[in-house]
Amino acid sequence: MNIKTLFKGIQVHDIYDNYPDAVIIINSQKNIVFWNKRAQNIFGFSKRDIIGKNIGIIFTDDIGKIHQNLTAAKSSILTAITKTDKEIFIEICCSEANENEEVIIAVRDVTRNQKIIEKLLLEYDKVLTISKNKSNLIASLSHELRSPIHFIIGFGQVLLDGLGGKLTEKQEKYVSLISKNANNLLAFLNNILDLSKIEAGKMEVNIKLFDVAQLINSVTESLNPVMEDKKLNFTVDLTDLVKKNIHSDENLLRQILINVLANAVKFTEMGSINLKVIHPDQDLVSSYNLKIHPEYTDKSFLMFSVTDTGIGIPEDGLETIFDEYRQVDRTISKKYGGTGLGLAITRKILEELGGVIWVESELKQGSTFSFIIPIDKLEQ
Ligand code: ADP
Repeated sequence: MNIKTLFKGIQVHDIYDNYPDAVIIINSQKNIVFWNKRAQNIFGFSKRDIIGKNIGIIFTDDIGKIHQNLTAAKSSILTAITKTDKEIFIEICCSEANENEEVIIAVRDVTRNQKIIEKLLLEYDKVLTISKNKSNLIASLSHELRSPIHFIIGFGQVLLDGLGGKLTEKQEKYVSLISKNANNLLAFLNNILDLSKIEAGKMEVNIKLFDVAQLINSVTESLNPVMEDKKLNFTVDLTDLVKKNIHSDENLLRQILINVLANAVKFTEMGSINLKVIHPDQDLVSSYNLKIHPEYTDKSFLMFSVTDTGIGIPEDGLETIFDEYRQVDRTISKKYGGTGLGLAITRKILEELGGVIWVESELKQGSTFSFIIPIDKLEQ
C-alpha cells in the first residue's frame, strides 16, 4: 500500500503539512515523494522544485546515515544544504512508512544549537590551552625559584652549624627563622610544581615491580625522628599483607604515604599513629568504581589506612579537604601552617595510579585516611 492511500480519504499532506517539524518522505530510490510546508521553510525548495528529486540534493552527509538511523531507531545530526547553498545542521529521525520501502524523515533545523555547541567547544579548547600554558609557566617558574631557595637553605645550615664562625643567640634565632621559612617555601613550590605537572598532563607514572614492605620500612624510618619528637606511639601492621612484590609507581606511592603520614603527625598532639596494610575485598573496591581487571584476584589491590588520635575533621570538611588550597578552617593555617595542597595532590596522584582516597574522622578523636591502589601488572 502506498503512503498516500494509507489513510482512507485523508490526504497525507493534510496530516503532515502543519507539523512543526519538516516531514520528507522518500521512496526506495531515495527520491522525494512528499515534502511538507516546514520543509519548504527550512530548505527553501517548493514542492514543485523538489518532488521527484533525489534526497542527495539537500543532504550533504552520507545518505547511508538515513539507513543507519532507521536501524538504530534514534535521531542523528547531519549537515544539509538549502536552495541558496547555505549549509545548515539538521536533526533527523527516520521511520519506515510502508511495505513499499518508503521512509518518513522528520527533520528539525538545529543550526543555532549546533553553532552554539561549536562555539562552546572552541572556547573550551582555548581555555584548555590557556590552562596548559599557565601550568607550564608555573612549572618553569617554580623550577627556577627552587635553585636559589636551595642555596638559602644550604648556606643557612652552614651558618647554623657554625662553619662561618660562632653565631650570637640573636643571629642563630634569625638564621633559624630564615631557614624555616625557606623550607616552607620550598615545600610549597614543590607542591605547586607537582600540581602544575598533573594539570599539564605531564605527571610521569612508572609502573614497576618493587617490594612494598621495603618501601614502607624506609618511609616509616624517615618519619621516626618526628614521631619520637612528639612522643607519638607509631605502629605498622603488615600482618595481612600477603603480596609484598607489587606493580605500581614506587616514587608516587612514597609521596602519597609521606603526605598522609606527615599530616597524621602534624595534626596529632598526643597518642598514636597506626599504618595498616591489607588486601581489600572486591565489594569495597567496586563501591569506589575502581577499574577491576578481568584477571582480578583477591590480591589485586592494596589498601593503606593511617589512623591517628589527632584533632579530627568536622563532617563538612571530609570531602573539601581534598580540594586545592582547602583546609578545615582558617585557624588551621595559623596554628599548623600548610597551604592545603598536599591532599589535593595526593588524590590526583592516586587517580593517576587508578586508586582512590577517602577519610573517616571524628572531631577531637582522630582520623583514618585510607587509600586503595591496584597492584597487578596490567597489559596495555
Ligand atoms: P596542608 O596540610 O598543607 O594544610 P593538606 O592538603 O595536606 O594541606 O590538608 C588539608 C587539610 O586537611 C589540612 O589543612 C587539615 O585541615 C586537614 N587534615 C589533613 N590531614 C589531617 C589529619 N590527619 N587530621 C586532621 N586534619 C587533617
